[in-house]
Amino acid sequence: MPKQARLSGIKSFRCYTKAEAAALVGVSIRTIGNWTRDGLPLLDATYPPLIRGDDLRNHITAQREGRKVKTGLCEFYCLRCRKGRAPAAEMADCKIEGNKAMLMALCNVCEGIVCKPISLARLPEVRSRLDLTIKRVEATL
Ligand SMILES: [Zn+2]
Repeated sequence: MPKQARLSGIKSFRCYTKAEAAALVGVSIRTIGNWTRDGLPLLDATYPPLIRGDDLRNHITAQREGRKVKTGLCEFYCLRCRKGRAPAAEMADCKIEGNKAMLMALCNVCEGIVCKPISLARLPEVRSRLDLTIKRVEATL
């Protein structure tokens, strides 16, 4: 999973160079360059070009919102397809460990492995809709 840019520490009324912004949010300068090409505003009248703190924060927040994909109870987010997908053949493995359950299946489009955690409370509902193979794992101390 890629590192998530840090929002804390960005001061709205400060301006940052690309290098300062990169260090502040924990991404590379190249990533900041990509963001400015994707619409993160730069103060062009300055040299070096500066990025306003509030613009930086808004850009990261908007990016996060755009990335969120809603998946239904019996849907999985497929990293390869970058979309919510149903499991192939409506089949999934379920690993229960303590009070946590993890569903694992194959994407019905690309056949990549998809998985997601679910609450035990919702397991009966999932079980009624998918062909689940349930495996209980003994918690080790
Ligand atoms: Zn897929």
